Amino acid sequence: MNFLPVFLNVKDRPCLVVGGGEVAARKVSLLRRAGACVTVTAPALCETLTTLTQAGHLTHRPGTFTDTDLDGCVLAVAATDDATVNRQVSAAARKRGILVNVVDHPELCSFIVPSIIDRSPVVVAVSSGGASPVLARLLRARLETLIPAAYGRLAALVENFRAQVKARFPTSQQRRRFWEKVLQGPAAEMLFAGQEQAAYRALERTVAQTHGAEHQTGEVYIVGGGPGNPDLLTFRALRLMQQADVVLYDRLVSKQVLDLTRRDAQQIYVGKRRDYHSVRQDEIHRLMVRLAKDGKRVLRLKGGDPFIFGRGGEEIDTLTEENVPFQIVPGVTAASGCAAYAGIPLTHRDYSQSCVFVTGHLQDGSVNLNWDALVQPQQTIVFYMGLKGLEVLCRQLVAHGMSPDMPAALVEHGTMPQQRVFVGNLKTLPGIVSEAQVHAPTLVIVGDVVRLHKKLAWFEPQRDDDAAQSSDP
Ligand code: SAH
Repeated sequence: MNFLPVFLNVKDRPCLVVGGGEVAARKVSLLRRAGACVTVTAPALCETLTTLTQAGHLTHRPGTFTDTDLDGCVLAVAATDDATVNRQVSAAARKRGILVNVVDHPELCSFIVPSIIDRSPVVVAVSSGGASPVLARLLRARLETLIPAAYGRLAALVENFRAQVKARFPTSQQRRRFWEKVLQGPAAEMLFAGQEQAAYRALERTVAQTHGAEHQTGEVYIVGGGPGNPDLLTFRALRLMQQADVVLYDRLVSKQVLDLTRRDAQQIYVGKRRDYHSVRQDEIHRLMVRLAKDGKRVLRLKGGDPFIFGRGGEEIDTLTEENVPFQIVPGVTAASGCAAYAGIPLTHRDYSQSCVFVTGHLQDGSVNLNWDALVQPQQTIVFYMGLKGLEVLCRQLVAHGMSPDMPAALVEHGTMPQQRVFVGNLKTLPGIVSEAQVHAPTLVIVGDVVRLHKKLAWFEPQRDDDAAQSSDP
C-alpha cells in the first residue's frame, strides 16, 4: 500500500482551507460534515463560501496565505490555482507536522482524500492511491448501488443494543456470532424495508431468546481456494472465509487468497511436505475436530478443489464420525484454471473427446499408473504433481505407444501474474523445463489440444524476467 487508510477525528478541531473557489468549497463542505472548525484563507470567496461565512459556518481570513494561518490547525487543504501558494502551504504544514492535502497534486500531499460512500455511521472510502481518481469514483458508484441506503440505520440499531448484548454475552466470540446472525437476519431485512419499529422489536426478542452462555459446537468449512488467483474464488468461499475464526491452510493457498480471510482470524499453516502425508493428515483431522468442538468456525482452506487430489473426502469422513457439522465449497481445480489461463482447452471437437486427471506423484521414484488406459486416441491427460517425475511420465507414455511428437505443456503458477507456460512434446518438454528453473506448483497437460496454445493464449502474465518466455516446439 502506498497510503495508510485511516478515519480521522476532526470534530471541533481547527482545520485550514487555503483558497476561495468552488474546489475549496467542496473541501470545506466535506470537513464540515465531519464536524471540523474550518477557517478559509483567501483574498476573496465564491458565492457558496460567502453564504457559509454569513451563516457563521466558517471563519474567513481575507488575504493571502502566511505560515501563521496554520497555528493550532490539525489539518490543512490547499485548493488554490496558484502552484506557488499550494507548494508553500504544503511545505509549511509538513514542517510543522500538520497533515496536508493539495488538491490534485499527490506529490505535495501527506494525505489524500478518498471517494466516499456515506451511510453514516458507516463510511466506505475508496482510493486509487492518487493513480486514478476516476477509477476510484467508478468503483464508488458501483458500491453505492450495492450498499442499501439504510445501512447507516442498521449501524444505529446495533449501537442501540450494544451495551445490552455485551452484558448478555460474555465472550467476544459469542457477541460476534450473535451480531452476524442479526445483521443477516430478519431484523436487518425489516429495517431495509423501512419497518424500523418492527426491527427494534424483533431484535429485542432475539436478544431475550438467545442463550449465549450455552456451549455450541462450531463447524468446519472445507473450502476450495482455487489455483491461486483470488478472482477465481466463489462468492460462498469468500463469505465463509470472512466469517471463520480459525484458518487451516495448505501450502498451495496463495497469499492473495489468504489475505481475504478475516483479519483477526487465527491462521494455522498445515501444509504438507512431500512424502510425509499420512502422519500429518491425522494431525490435521485431530486439530480440525478439536477446534470445532471448542466452538470455533474452522475454515479448512485448500488449493484448487477439495475433492480433486485434495483429501477432502478423508477429512469429511472424520468430521462425520465425530458429528462435527461441515460444508464443502468447490473450487476451480488447477486443471481448469491452468487450461483456461494457458489457452489450452481440455476437450475440443477436433482433438480430444475425453480428459483424465491423474497424479504424477512419485513414491520411491516410480509411478504406478495404468499407462494403457492413459494412452488413448483423442484424450487429454492432465498430470497433477508431475514436476519431479516429468521425465519418467513422458518416457512411459512413449513406451506405451504414444507418439514422441505428442504435444505437451507444463504450466507453472497457473492463473497467477507470474504464470509461465512451457510447450514442447513428449521428447522435448523435460529438457525445456529443466533448463528453465521451474518451481512448483506446476501442471502438465498432454494431448493434441496443446497445439491450440499458440493461437488461444490470451492471458498476459507480468514478467520481471523477459528472458523467461514460453517456448514453442
Ligand atoms: N486440490 C487441488 C490439487 C492439489 S494437488 C486442485 O484441485 O487443484 C497439488 C497439485 O496441483 C500441484 O502439485 C500442481 O500439480 C497442481 N496445482 C495447484 N495449483 C496450481 C497452479 N496454480 N499452477 C499449476 N499447478 C497447480
